[in-house]
Amino acid sequence: MTGNGSPLEQTSMEDLLQFLYLMPVGVLKFRTEGTVEMINPVAAALLMSLNSADTLQNIYLSLASSAPDLPNQVAQFSGNSGTIIEHRWLRTHIGSQTLVLSLTVNRIRDDVHMAVVTDVTRLANQEEALYSDRQKFFAIFDHVRDYAIYTISPDGDIEEWNQSLRRFGGWLDSDVQHRSMSIFSPSDDTDRHSLALLLAEARRIGSTETEGWLLKRDGSYLWANTVITALPDESGTVRRFVVVSRDLTERKLREDEIRRLATVDPLTGAYNRRKGDELLAVRFKQRKRDGRQFAVLMLDIDHFKNVNDDFGHATGDAVLCAVVQICRTSLRPVDMVVRWGGEEFLIVLPNTNAAEAMAAAERLRSVVAVTEVAGPEGTAIPVTISVGVALPEGDSAEELLSRSDAALYAAKTTGRNRVMMAT
Ligand code: GH3
Ligand code: MG
Ligand code: MG
Repeated sequence: MTGNGSPLEQTSMEDLLQFLYLMPVGVLKFRTEGTVEMINPVAAALLMSLNSADTLQNIYLSLASSAPDLPNQVAQFSGNSGTIIEHRWLRTHIGSQTLVLSLTVNRIRDDVHMAVVTDVTRLANQEEALYSDRQKFFAIFDHVRDYAIYTISPDGDIEEWNQSLRRFGGWLDSDVQHRSMSIFSPSDDTDRHSLALLLAEARRIGSTETEGWLLKRDGSYLWANTVITALPDESGTVRRFVVVSRDLTERKLREDEIRRLATVDPLTGAYNRRKGDELLAVRFKQRKRDGRQFAVLMLDIDHFKNVNDDFGHATGDAVLCAVVQICRTSLRPVDMVVRWGGEEFLIVLPNTNAAEAMAAAERLRSVVAVTEVAGPEGTAIPVTISVGVALPEGDSAEELLSRSDAALYAAKTTGRNRVMMAT
């Protein structure tokens, strides 16, 4: 546009000016030293609202308080043309209100500059609200005990986290950065697979919940409930998940203890009879599946009534505990001791043949026979046991137990302190 005055170009020029005039953004043209040569109404209104200068004749004066370094930036810009400032947000407080303008300054050519000013107050407020919601959100989780919260990528890599991870499992920022959340899983490999399944489920139905042991930084474990929630964007694509884990270790230990207490005899710590029935059922099932033989010992303390009568019930209790203790130390960890009745114990020996079962029973008998239990006033109480040994022949627990009972009875009637194999 060289402006030689042809009617067509004259019209174009007017159109352009009209266009600039009506543009919903502020546009102004100024010289290197700040003199405003052209300004549209929006720019004028915006700059006047800054209220920092009575005049709009110089852009530097208008923006003196919100962009004091503008003159320097323009002066130091070395190119003949180009962007000097791009979308810089200028905040001005007008009374209790904050006005936020976005400023872009371009050099068109030597000494000719164009500034574009837009009001971004609403956008800035929205961003601030989002930021503050986010701050609040993280602040809550920073201070809530027993929770960990973090976000992960679609592949399960940890993206954002907060203080809670440190409190939760002792994890440091450097441990979790760019790592898969499967680092919290006790067995990395299998859990990488199950993590993929969990994420697929969260993607499908919105969120997914699991409970299990998680690894702490020091190698110990905590029991946690974990909820993974998919965070879809506007188009519905899931670009991240938020993970909230809650430490339930104390509850878990309490529950486990309650469950354990329901299976043991409180006096001796041996399994109770109900658990004994279960253990037998498991052995029968296993035997049916892979033919693995097992054996049982029915063990009864000899003349136990005399112990109670002569030394008191407390001494009787001590003898019961001593016998269970001997069973524990003389047998393998896989062998199970069940208090079947008052002073009668069933012992289940997995993967054991007849000869091994007889040897185990004989070992128990001989160890008990040389043990003396401390009674009242320095007395030492000798203890003996009789044992009936049996191996299953069919699938019936009753039949096995009655054969071991019969063997025990035979041991009793032939003199006690002995082991008999069932017929
Ligand atoms: P045997 O050699 O024929 O087995 O004779 P025994 O005296 O051992 O057998 P009996 O069945 O006559 O006596 C068992 C006794 O065990 C009777 C009962 O009071 C006692 N008893 C059962 N449970 C407990 C217990 O928890 N503590 C104590 N101290 N005694 C118990
Ligand atoms: Mg007895
Ligand atoms: Mg008895």
